Amino acid sequence: MVNMEHRDNLASKPQDNRQLCDRQELLNRTASAQASGNSVHIIVLYLDRYRKIVSALGHEFAHQVHNEIGDRILRAFPDAIAFSHLADDEFAVLLTSTTKARLRTLSETALRNTREALLIDRQTVVVTASAGIASSSTKLPLDGTELLQQAGLVASEGQSKGGNCFTFYSGSVQQQPLRRLDLELDLRRALEANEISVFYQPIFDLRSNRVTGLEALARWRHADLGWIEPTEFIPLAEESGLIADIGERVLSHACAETIEFLSRSNSLEYVAVNFAARQIEHRDLVKITEQILGRLNFPAGRLVLEITESDFLESEKRIIKSLDTLRSSGVRVAIDDFGTGYSSLRVLKEFPADVLKIDQQFVQNAHCQHVDATITRAVIDIAHSLNMKVVAEGVENTEQLHFLRAAGCDSIQGYYVGRAVGPEQIADLLQVSGS
Ligand code: C2E
Ligand code: CA
Ligand code: CA
Repeated sequence: MVNMEHRDNLASKPQDNRQLCDRQELLNRTASAQASGNSVHIIVLYLDRYRKIVSALGHEFAHQVHNEIGDRILRAFPDAIAFSHLADDEFAVLLTSTTKARLRTLSETALRNTREALLIDRQTVVVTASAGIASSSTKLPLDGTELLQQAGLVASEGQSKGGNCFTFYSGSVQQQPLRRLDLELDLRRALEANEISVFYQPIFDLRSNRVTGLEALARWRHADLGWIEPTEFIPLAEESGLIADIGERVLSHACAETIEFLSRSNSLEYVAVNFAARQIEHRDLVKITEQILGRLNFPAGRLVLEITESDFLESEKRIIKSLDTLRSSGVRVAIDDFGTGYSSLRVLKEFPADVLKIDQQFVQNAHCQHVDATITRAVIDIAHSLNMKVVAEGVENTEQLHFLRAAGCDSIQGYYVGRAVGPEQIADLLQVSGS
């Protein structure tokens, strides 16, 4: 859907002599640039999590978001010869005769401009985008349609890896749409064939200097394709509804295996299991959790359910009720990826939780960047005054650890302590750290 109002809005900006054009015009300009012997490059940008913004904040709000972001993206490409707003969450830019280094710099600027906080109707929103870049040269001439397709493919691949990145098309993802379809079908089979297993990442307590927690992370070992990342299959599972089955499988595996780990370690206290709010749309969270805990005789006090911040906002009342019931039986609740949503403080105000996990994007630069340090310290203080424990995610080096310890953070998780590993390896690690 091309937004006419937005087009007028952008096209009338006096500082830009380029016109916002539709898809056909973009293709025409690509063809004429090629006819004059120029190399051409198309950058496609998708707004990440756009559907979530629409469902949480409404169409009118989302409309203002994409208008504003459109302006920002346009400003990042002063030498563009065409700019199109192809769909609400999709933009395309045409450039000619430029270098890979320049394309990289421009894409970085566009992503940086996009990421700056937006203030709309007194709400602050942070939007990120994923860009894909495709080029046609005399060696490998491609028309505009092919370039759009290739750039779109790598942009959506970037999104499925977490977004906020740009990728040059290199020919390797041509099979992507096919792979996606196959995976969806395969995922059903994988559940039956027991291909989904659980890995565990240690969570290290900064006071006792011991591993006191484990985060259970789903892993899929595909019979033909090998290991498939959860960032690829979890969104697929959410879309197809299979997340309910996967979630149940992970929860019961994690609890059963943790009983074993607890018997070998005297420092381990809990296991944290990720929970997609969409699971509640399919099943009764309380019933399923109580059934699994009851069947395994697993103490509720040793289970933490992690729910990402943005999921909290989308499911509102129903989720609060379920979580309250579980909390009264002793299960703890963690707000995951804190700081990545568009209404972090509202989550704290409206959703009772026991643990707050600060997202790695703040943690990674907190030891060297003033803003990230200030935010991280403030979040730790707020959480403590709300009686919550704080886990910092994505800790990769000593500097980060020192900073977090000084800031009063309770626990850390990240490659510095250990990556997620299979049950046998984690049992070994616990024996060492718990003795
Ligand atoms: P998450 O819950 O934020 O999990 C943390 C992710 O960060 C994990 O990726 C972990 O391997 C990665 N990570 C841990 N330490 C570091 C570090 O120091 N540096 C960096 N760069 N990364 C680190 P993973 O295992 O690929 O999981 C990705 C996401 O998939 C998870 O993010 C979670 O949202 C989702 N997920 C995984 N398992 C499940 C599950 O059983 N159910 C649901 N609903 N979602 C799951
Ligand atoms: Ca998590
Ligand atoms: Ca997280």
